[in-house]
Amino acid sequence: MNLKKILALGLTAALFFTGCAERREAAQQMLENQKMENRHEATSFAMDTIMTFTVIHEDGDELIIDAEQEIRRLENLLSITLEDSDVSKINAAAGKEPVKIEKDTMTLLETGKNLGAMTGGAFDIAISPVVKAWGFTEEEHHVPTQAELDALLPLTDADDVIHEKGTAYLQKEGMAIDLGGITKGYASDRVAALLKGKGVESAILSLGGNVYGIGTKPDGTKWEVALANPLDANDYCGLISIEDQAVVTSGGYQRYFEENGKKYHHIIDPKTGYPAESGLLSVTIISESGTEADVFSTALFVMGLEKALDFWQEYGGFEAIFVTEAGEVVATEGADACFAFEGRDNDFTYRMVERK
Ligand code: ADP
Ligand code: MG
Repeated sequence: MNLKKILALGLTAALFFTGCAERREAAQQMLENQKMENRHEATSFAMDTIMTFTVIHEDGDELIIDAEQEIRRLENLLSITLEDSDVSKINAAAGKEPVKIEKDTMTLLETGKNLGAMTGGAFDIAISPVVKAWGFTEEEHHVPTQAELDALLPLTDADDVIHEKGTAYLQKEGMAIDLGGITKGYASDRVAALLKGKGVESAILSLGGNVYGIGTKPDGTKWEVALANPLDANDYCGLISIEDQAVVTSGGYQRYFEENGKKYHHIIDPKTGYPAESGLLSVTIISESGTEADVFSTALFVMGLEKALDFWQEYGGFEAIFVTEAGEVVATEGADACFAFEGRDNDFTYRMVERK
């Protein structure tokens, strides 16, 4: 072969390769564009919070309508304020008679009771009489008297909630259940299952403080969820990367009222009947189960950092990030692996806790 021929061949090969890369790039771009065109997003108000569903799928709009319908269906069963909900019917028949309930309500009572027992009662589905006494249910906030709380606390034992054969029964008059600390997590699991069942491989669901990421972003990287700075609504303490996981935050900084210069928030310590004062500003749970993440975020907030870390060491199955009143951001080992801390500018310090 003479030099000319070799050069010519080299040139063709080079051209061929550029052509190939260009074509690949163009195809990639087309795919990206198509995925962006398939990006559908809608915001609605349900379960007392703002929900945003982002679904990457050619039938995204219809799928979001399906998702919103599922949310309504669950809200109609589980709301404590809607008169015809299963929860309202159960509460109205407290101390009187068992009430026939739907399967989802049954599942939530069962799961709520089991997980509640695991947390040693820090999560308590029967806490409603006390939550009501503080005015959080009807949004008529006031500090109850100690006598009031003393009379109500004996009515908050989840063991007195009987669920069997498609019915639920509260054994004492004056008892009531409140599934506000678990419903949104459960709803996120139901909607994620519904969408996955219809072929969705990429979506992010935000139900107030409850987020669920299906698969990854269209470009294949993980979904990112900001960890809110509890002291500043416009700021965040870092980013959590997730794939087929839920991220749920509970904190005293979102729903609270003030009386005589003191703040009272909506997460109650079932032992005292008072808003939990455990030294935490927020607890964020990362888990494959939105239901568990919702329960544990509330329960671990009640427990405080030390007990919460013991609970994590004992049970595992989830990861957690705590923001403390002392200005620390504390992540469990598995949470550390998917968390990029960015709170130094706001005087937060960061620490990781290893699994024993
Ligand atoms: P949010 O619903 O604001 O996202 P949480 O998931 O932490 O926050 O749930 C708080 C809600 O759960 C309260 O508004 C109340 O209805 C209920 N709740 C309060 N304290 C407890 C508790 N110790 N156990 C179970 N539910 C609780
Ligand atoms: Mg919760």
